[in-house]
Amino acid sequence: MKRMRTASRTSQVERIIIPTPFLVGDVNVYLISGDVNILIDTGPDTPEAKQALLQGLRGRGLETEDIDLLILTHHHPDHIGLAGMFTGKTKTAGHPLLKPWLEKNEGLYEHIEAFFRPFFKRHGMDEEVIEQIVRQQERYREFVQPAEMTDELEETVQTPMLPGWTIIETPGHASTHISLLREEDGLLVAGDHVIKHISSNAIIEAPASAGAERPKTLLDYRQSLKKCAGTALIFSGHGDMITNPRTLIEKRLTAQLQKADMFLSKLEQPMTVAELTKTVYGTMFKKQPDLTFSETLGHLDLLAQQGRVSVWIDGNKAVYESLQL
Ligand SMILES: [Zn+2]
Repeated sequence: MKRMRTASRTSQVERIIIPTPFLVGDVNVYLISGDVNILIDTGPDTPEAKQALLQGLRGRGLETEDIDLLILTHHHPDHIGLAGMFTGKTKTAGHPLLKPWLEKNEGLYEHIEAFFRPFFKRHGMDEEVIEQIVRQQERYREFVQPAEMTDELEETVQTPMLPGWTIIETPGHASTHISLLREEDGLLVAGDHVIKHISSNAIIEAPASAGAERPKTLLDYRQSLKKCAGTALIFSGHGDMITNPRTLIEKRLTAQLQKADMFLSKLEQPMTVAELTKTVYGTMFKKQPDLTFSETLGHLDLLAQQGRVSVWIDGNKAVYESLQL
């Protein structure tokens, strides 16, 4: 029987830095080479990113067709935008929920918009801000070249081409998020799950299917952080490697608890999420309504889990109230 080609256990993991037009700056993609070549993430669909990716591969003697497996950590355009460059024999793999994002499925976009419009309204957002967010989401998707997902990666599924590596589902920053752990030395390739110089946003998302409950992304994110505290070294989607994962993860978890206290202290009277976001963020809310709203709601979810706030429906609005005496 012919031996299956695999990335050897000690194969090198090399970083290629790709520019993005986004506030976050450059994105890191990683190349694991051995008998097979595996690329993790791609960068956004821009001419500059495409050139940087091709240069990075060619600098290592590779062309796009030499990549056997492309693994995508999550659905954000700075990570999957160029997946469409890898066709033919390259397999493209990610979390099952990534598939419609990668294929740019119209039904998914319709589902998201149908969820968010009434959702934001119920939480006190003005129509014009909702419109702004919907348009922004549409523009963001233009940085993705559609691609086919050939393989699904879940925590229980071993990747035959990557012996010695385990898939860890790390939802929170994105519900599609996976990380890759090399068991031998505890190296984690973590996408945007943990970043050294900035705290990852647990961005709010629509539920996977219509009518289901929305994911509590900050609560998911905290679980996913705890899962990775025992790793030895983290290679992230942005910035430098993390040599002390446990310390950084504990710092992030504590900062979230402190931030929840801060939100609670500002909840002096019953408010909608939008009202509390404006109270806390002021002018920053105007610039980044979606991210600031997301931060507020995430921490309210945390406070609700701690039994420190309650929420009720007043007319057609959801109102949060502090239970702190
Ligand atoms: Zn991301």
